[in-house]
Amino acid sequence: MPDIDDFSPDDDFPLASAFEHAPLRLTVDLGAMADNWRDMAKRSGKARAAAVVKADAYGLGIEDAGQTFYRAGARDFFVATVAEGVTLRPYAPQARIFVLSGVWPGQEADILGSDLVPVLASEEQLSHWTAVAAQAGDHPCALQVDTGFNRLGLTAEDALSLAGDPCRPASFSPVLVLSHLACGDTPSSTMNTVQRESFQQVAAAYEGIDSSLSASAGIFLGPDYHFDLTRPGIALYGGEAVNGMANPMRPVATAEARIVMIREAGEGQTVSYGGTYRLQRASRLAIAAVGYADGYQRSLSGSGIPLREMGYGGAYGFVNGYQVPVAGRVTMDMTIFDVTDVPANAVRAGDYIELFGPNVPLDEVARAAGTIGYEILTSTGLRYERLALEAE
Ligand SMILES: *Cc1c(COP(=O)(O)O)cnc(C)c1O
Repeated sequence: MPDIDDFSPDDDFPLASAFEHAPLRLTVDLGAMADNWRDMAKRSGKARAAAVVKADAYGLGIEDAGQTFYRAGARDFFVATVAEGVTLRPYAPQARIFVLSGVWPGQEADILGSDLVPVLASEEQLSHWTAVAAQAGDHPCALQVDTGFNRLGLTAEDALSLAGDPCRPASFSPVLVLSHLACGDTPSSTMNTVQRESFQQVAAAYEGIDSSLSASAGIFLGPDYHFDLTRPGIALYGGEAVNGMANPMRPVATAEARIVMIREAGEGQTVSYGGTYRLQRASRLAIAAVGYADGYQRSLSGSGIPLREMGYGGAYGFVNGYQVPVAGRVTMDMTIFDVTDVPANAVRAGDYIELFGPNVPLDEVARAAGTIGYEILTSTGLRYERLALEAE
């Protein structure tokens, strides 16, 4: 028996093993991420491809992602907030970093200090920023134009009159004009054509500065949608960008939960809260250390009640070569998987169940939850031990 005094976490349990034993772990394949960026850059044709790394790079880690895209050649980045831009800067030293939500009074020092480019989205932001820029000396900004989304941006009319306004403030020096598609994931939508035509007029009025319309989905709509700069996000992380199209991207993230215990339960018994899942036979159940607090949403529950047409009423995991359905309701910290069809010697306590990854497509999990891959990725939460596999 080792003496308790010998217990030295740093020596006996080096950091690397934290991942090997973590109850919940997330592997991020940076090589696949870099490949996905190169793929998006290629599909963007004559346009340059930026990298969208907002929300901690869709939950996968903005430092690793930023560095990976930078090394792959990205020189334009988009973040949502000033704080994200400040975090990213050291990993993308020579890049332009655009802040999609613009700038609030009080954030000027961070914008200037980290050399971020605010994306101005409203008349208020415009007048605030031009006053700041007048004081600070020349500092670039970007202009967001709303062409039908009704989220951020000046209306196309206002953007056009601003372009031609001889009295506009001299400190307004846009380097990019951008808009965002509402239905880019639905190629047949007439919205796409309407927005593109509206944006084309705006881009023409701002001739000489870069224009940008398309996120991941828009890139697949073809060259008419590419303009000067594309803004892929979800596709870089392996997610599905276009509805009903086979996803050509490489999977990037693998989420796994450890099986805490395996239990036997009899025919006719029920599983988890509400007793919604009734066993039709004597069963073996694997209790895994993941729950809705980890973004494994309660709507993934195997309730037997379809939540929407596409779902069959629950997600499934993958363990040692077998698909295993979620049994009953997902709870805060635990999820129960039915492993009855897995041979007893092929699954044990301590094994890991893949929640999404190469064997369980992210977007299939999303569909089972009635949501999209974006939400599954960005809600993985704080309890995952993360391992980044380096790009070659
Ligand atoms: C999030 C976002 C993107 C990236 O979108 P994806 O669908 O993830 O590719 C691009 N542009 C804007 C304005 C965004 O908000």
